[in-house]
Amino acid sequence: MGADMIGYIVVGPKLIGPWQQKEAVRKIKLLVKEWNASGKPPVCQTCFVEYSEASLDGCQCDECGTEMPDLELMKTDPERYVREMVERWPPDFRDVATRDMPGNRDKVIVFAGDMTWGDSPEGAGYAALRLLLNSGCAEELGLE
Ligand SMILES: [Zn+2]
Repeated sequence: MGADMIGYIVVGPKLIGPWQQKEAVRKIKLLVKEWNASGKPPVCQTCFVEYSEASLDGCQCDECGTEMPDLELMKTDPERYVREMVERWPPDFRDVATRDMPGNRDKVIVFAGDMTWGDSPEGAGYAALRLLLNSGCAEELGLE
C-alpha cells in the first residue's frame, strides 16, 4: 500500500484560436438543445452518470465529485461560457507542469496532479484540467 500519483496529461494548442472557440460555442448550443429536447439532465463527462437534482443544485457530480460546468451559463450565454473555459487554458498553478510539444511549437503538454491515497488531488491546476475536460467542448477547443 502507498500513495499513488494521480493526474491529467493534456495536449492542447498554445493559443485557442477564434475558429476553435466558434466550434466550441456551436457544440455547447447543440448540447443545450439536446438536453431540452430529451428532457433528460446532462451527463457527467467524467463518470457518464446523469446529473441528479442534487448535483444540479450544487456544483459537483454526486457520483464522482467532479466540478460541474456552469449549466446555467451554458444555456444563457454560451459565448461567455466558452470564453471562461478558454481563459482557464493553459492553467498556471503550482501543481501544473507545462512544456512545449516536441516537434510542434503550436502545442503544449500540460500535466497537473499530486500524490494521493485514493482521493482526487486537491490542486487548483488539477481541478482546472478536470473542469476543462468536463466542459462539454474540450475536443472543439483542441484539448486531448
Ligand atoms: Zn461524475
